[in-house]
Amino acid sequence: MADPRLLRLLRWFAKHKRRLPWRNTRDSYRIYISEIMLQQTQVPRVLEHYRAWLRRFPSWKALAKARTDDILRAWAGLGYNRRALHARDAARHVLRHGVPKTLEEWMRLKGAGSYTARAAYAIVSRKPVLAIDTNVRRAAGRIFLGIPYPSPENDARIEKALAKAGFGAPSHWALAQAFMDFGTAICRSKPNCGACPFAADCMAAQEFLSGSAAKPKPRRAETVRAGKRYPDRIYRGRIVEILRTQQYADLRTIGANIDPSYCHAHDAAWITNMANRLVKDGLIGRRGFRIFLAME
Ligand code: SF4
Repeated sequence: MADPRLLRLLRWFAKHKRRLPWRNTRDSYRIYISEIMLQQTQVPRVLEHYRAWLRRFPSWKALAKARTDDILRAWAGLGYNRRALHARDAARHVLRHGVPKTLEEWMRLKGAGSYTARAAYAIVSRKPVLAIDTNVRRAAGRIFLGIPYPSPENDARIEKALAKAGFGAPSHWALAQAFMDFGTAICRSKPNCGACPFAADCMAAQEFLSGSAAKPKPRRAETVRAGKRYPDRIYRGRIVEILRTQQYADLRTIGANIDPSYCHAHDAAWITNMANRLVKDGLIGRRGFRIFLAME
């Protein structure tokens, strides 16, 4: 490994790494589940649910056979419920075609996407591909390219810079995890450059230390319907949440339970549209006004 900054990062990681259960395995199912959970959920929250999920659905086979209502109940607390269905679709795919062996095969799993596929491939098959998540992007983009707030458009440059620095086997897995932990602990969105082992040779350090690093405007937030506090995604999640604890609900009365400002005259069609979207996504079933978790 040529670049001393990568070696320093590995030394930092040896001292400060987080003990995470999915780091002790190369089992394809366990790795895939951890990556799907981590897609839009923070590590502490995933830690609360990961082991319970594995007890409930310990293998590709167990998940492939599971009913929708069972997996949605087990997914409670993780948010973005469609990921649970994607995981089951992936399990069914694996039962038919076997565990993916190439990056392209990982990409074919439902819900995988580029990051998850690369991460799973790197871990399960020990292949030296780089999966760039927010933390890797932020830390590597700052240290090696001097970009204070790197965006996904910078990923190709980051990958190239890391390859030039010597990223590759056999340390690729440890380096990727190290960037993740370092980006979470020190090189956060508001970085702690004063306590950073890279302050002397990070290409973005001066901008932060001098206070001249300009934070870009946040990307456009999700659309929020007029008169509502949150995007519809949140209210759809609340509908599913209610159905986790009761067998069915009535579309004519559920509104007040998901939105305190619910007004039947204005919002009845809104509730129906959200329920229809959940039906289309395969999360719930509907008979007339009655809705319930899907049971396929
Ligand atoms: S010096 Fe600052 S910006 Fe650079 S890696 Fe360290 S914490 Fe991040």
